[in-house]
Amino acid sequence: MRALPSLSPAPPPPPLLCRTASRAPGAPDRDAAGTPDEDGEGRLIRCGACGRPVAAPAARTGVGGRHAHVFANPAGLVFEVGCFREAFGCRGEGPFVAAFSWFGGFAWQVAVCRGCEAHLGWRYRPRDGSGPGFWGLILARLAED
Ligand SMILES: [Zn+2]
Repeated sequence: MRALPSLSPAPPPPPLLCRTASRAPGAPDRDAAGTPDEDGEGRLIRCGACGRPVAAPAARTGVGGRHAHVFANPAGLVFEVGCFREAFGCRGEGPFVAAFSWFGGFAWQVAVCRGCEAHLGWRYRPRDGSGPGFWGLILARLAED
């Protein structure tokens, strides 16, 4: 009688703390500022590891009314996750998991960069199959032109 080795990666723990961030640290609040330059024109959000484009700025979307969400795990590791309607440079990896989801009603799948396979966040889809899904990308792992 011995304990099974735990070789499988643990899913992200459920958040003990969930608050919403008004914006990414250091990022200008373009929506409120209403800057006249064409936001997103020719600019791309890239993988912070390899520089490959992963999403258009215009693909930013709000989930629960906000684009950026902050989740912390019990170890104090904080993820600031931005929601995107589409992330063409990301690929879903592995099965969708309904447990431990940071977004109620959504199942998650690991999302990696198509270029370098870096873990950039998670892909979410409704657990009941209704409506579109979205990508929750770790903002600290992205770069923007
Ligand atoms: Zn990459």
